[in-house]
Amino acid sequence: MFDIAIIGAGPAGATLARLTGNSNKVLLIDKKQLTMTPEEDFGHAKCCGGLLAPDAQEMLAVLGLGLPQHVLVGPQLFVVRTIDLQNAIERYYQRFYINIDRGKFDRWLLSLLPASVDVRLGSLCKSFEKSNGSFQLKLFQNGKEYVEHAKILIGADGALSMVRRQAFPHHPFPKKYIAVQEWFETERVLPYFTTIFDREITDFYSWTIPKENFLLVGAALSPQEKTSPKFELLKKKSSCPVPVWYHNPVARYLQALTISLE
Ligand SMILES: Cc1cc2nc3c(=O)[nH]c(=O)nc-3n(C[C@H](O)[C@H](O)[C@H](O)COP(=O)(O)OP(=O)(O)OC[C@H]3O[C@@H](n4cnc5c(N)ncnc54)[C@H](O)[C@@H]3O)c2cc1C
Repeated sequence: MFDIAIIGAGPAGATLARLTGNSNKVLLIDKKQLTMTPEEDFGHAKCCGGLLAPDAQEMLAVLGLGLPQHVLVGPQLFVVRTIDLQNAIERYYQRFYINIDRGKFDRWLLSLLPASVDVRLGSLCKSFEKSNGSFQLKLFQNGKEYVEHAKILIGADGALSMVRRQAFPHHPFPKKYIAVQEWFETERVLPYFTTIFDREITDFYSWTIPKENFLLVGAALSPQEKTSPKFELLKKKSSCPVPVWYHNPVARYLQALTISLE
């Protein structure tokens, strides 16, 4: 019987396990092999921009955690560039992000866990039941189903949390989007976090983030529409030799992105 079972070993679950692991018997479960690098297993990379926002920086500071050098990637970003295509508006504002390698960040947080925490990576929690004041967890690892018990169950299993869905079936979920990201190798660094508002692509937004000699291009797309053609359209519009929006203030951005995507 564990005191606490935490489902999800991302920043939330890993931090909680670190803070509670010395004085409790803690089980930390994640379906992904989070300690593998993308080179070892690309399928386990998280779809994330890897920009540590000021509120996250503040929380790390409160927890007494400074970032190790190996987690940082260049360039460091403090300018956000917003482009609203339909309204032909381009604006810049200041916001201090820390540009990080998201996989390394998660692995660093896991490396801080006390040895007493029982960490099971590559282990999926399928469901749970509450009986006699404790939780019975159905877990699945290497094709085998097994059971663990815990007095307290914590759902740190991300935006589509299975724990939340099962514990609060009538709680409304926010509108869903599908995020697609692609990495382009480039010599040319765009030193901004760029956000692109284009209703032809999505009613949310698309983005570009420089990461060393790569440009990360991404979009949050509606699951109601086919996502691949929308993402291809984003890339096509961005890399068109004569920009579609030539007389638009975003032309400079598009030219820059054209060069990056070539
Ligand atoms: C496209 C995109 C870009 C983003 N960019 C940024 C950014 O630039 N900066 C920023 O600060 N935030 C960004 N975010 C948000 C950020 O990724 C989340 O806020 C952060 O990951 C939340 O941490 P978490 O620990 O709560 O959840 P997660 O990091 O999502 O961790 C949840 C973990 O639970 C595991 N899990 C889920 N279900 C189960 C299950 N049933 N059994 C076992 N394990 C399970 C998952 O494998 C995962 O590792 C982005 C999100 C998306 C989608």
